[in-house]
Amino acid sequence: MLQAYVVESNVYDFAISIASQFHYLVNVFTVVAGAFWIAKDIRNRLRRQFFTINLQGKAMGAQKRILVTGGAGFLGAFLCERMVTEGHDVICLDNFFTSQKSNIVDLLEQPNFEFVRHDITHPIWLEVDEIYNLACPAAPGHYQFNPIKTLKTSVLGAINALGIAKRCHAKILQASTSEVYGDPEVHPQPESYRGSVNPVGPRACYDEGKRAAETLFMEYNRMNNVNVRIVRIFNTYGPRMHPYDGRVVSNFIGQAIRGEDITVFGDGNQTRSFCYRDDLVEGMVRMMNGPDDFIGPVNLGNAGEFTVLELAELVIEMTGSNSKIVHKALPADDPLRRQPDATLAEEKLGWKPIVSLREGLEKTIAWFQQIDWANYRPPTPNF
Ligand code: NAD
Ligand code: UDP
Repeated sequence: MLQAYVVESNVYDFAISIASQFHYLVNVFTVVAGAFWIAKDIRNRLRRQFFTINLQGKAMGAQKRILVTGGAGFLGAFLCERMVTEGHDVICLDNFFTSQKSNIVDLLEQPNFEFVRHDITHPIWLEVDEIYNLACPAAPGHYQFNPIKTLKTSVLGAINALGIAKRCHAKILQASTSEVYGDPEVHPQPESYRGSVNPVGPRACYDEGKRAAETLFMEYNRMNNVNVRIVRIFNTYGPRMHPYDGRVVSNFIGQAIRGEDITVFGDGNQTRSFCYRDDLVEGMVRMMNGPDDFIGPVNLGNAGEFTVLELAELVIEMTGSNSKIVHKALPADDPLRRQPDATLAEEKLGWKPIVSLREGLEKTIAWFQQIDWANYRPPTPNF
């Protein structure tokens, strides 16, 4: 009896002592599990940073999952190409409003490239590390085709892209524009200039849409700590511009090649500063990879300023065309002067355009001379 009592009492004491130690055990377990979790996270991050092998067989260092919205467009397709070549896992999202599959057809064969046909005004669920938000018609003729849709693409598109960035803790870059300066009273335009935009004019759907998108980027950064970047792109040209986009470079080259009149709007003394595509994309990538405390906005553009008339004469000379210059009415709100103050980009990113207008035009003209114009169409009424 006594023996049974002693055994029972020992078991009871043991249970009490275990129970009293329980919270210590829980603490030890939490610390060990936490340490394991942190170690696993560090290992995964290191793997992502240093040990990824390019699917094409090249050891490339840091492979990232990169989303390019508007990735089938003029700038987007070139950016996608560069990211694929660097070995990243690229998702190109586009609805082909102002582009077509031929821009990305070579990329479709690459194992680290994926195309998603989607309209960015609708939410989408994707897992990525970086986002370049380029989806938006850029040429005046394209963005004025359906101004309400242009505004939706800028604003809802930014919200949807920022939503992905917020959920995935992804870094996100906005392709903004020199149009945020409108018809500028300050020349050249520094980032600190707040602009002179007509909010009710025919260019407002684009200008104000891009301004609202910049605001959204800043607020997602301030409120939600989203890691953002904003670049303000000045007129950029190069191979794979849409031949029917109505922009000055594509118009003049097309007209010169076909021997048609070169249509200079107004007296042609308005100026633009033309940046070659490769320079621009280099600046965009530097901005994305730059320090987290430099979020912009930063101007990306070539400081060389030309009148539209000078451009027309240069294109005629370089194509050896017999085309004559004719003058047409200047579109409403057409900015009179535009030139980037690009000192900030040089200071912070070490970026400076290296391709001269003549050099860039040579490559662009060569591309226009070999395309089949029948493969391109203007935007359809379906949008
Ligand atoms: P682009 O028209 O060739 O490319 C835009 C791409 O976005 C196209 O492929 C188009 O189909 C796609 N797109 C449009 N609406 C969409 C939507 N709702 N959903 C999904 N995709 C959509 O123009 P780009 O010259 O390559 O310009 C790219 C970006 O750079 C744009 O955001 C533009 O505003 C900006 N930008 C360009 C210039 C320039 O001179 N090229 C200047 C300033 C800013
Ligand atoms: N422009 C022109 N002829 C054309 C197309 C454009 O004179 O056939 C002018 C236009 O009026 C503007 C400049 O060229 O002053 C640049 O126009 P674009 O549409 O390329 O871009 P923007 O800078 O106006 O957005």
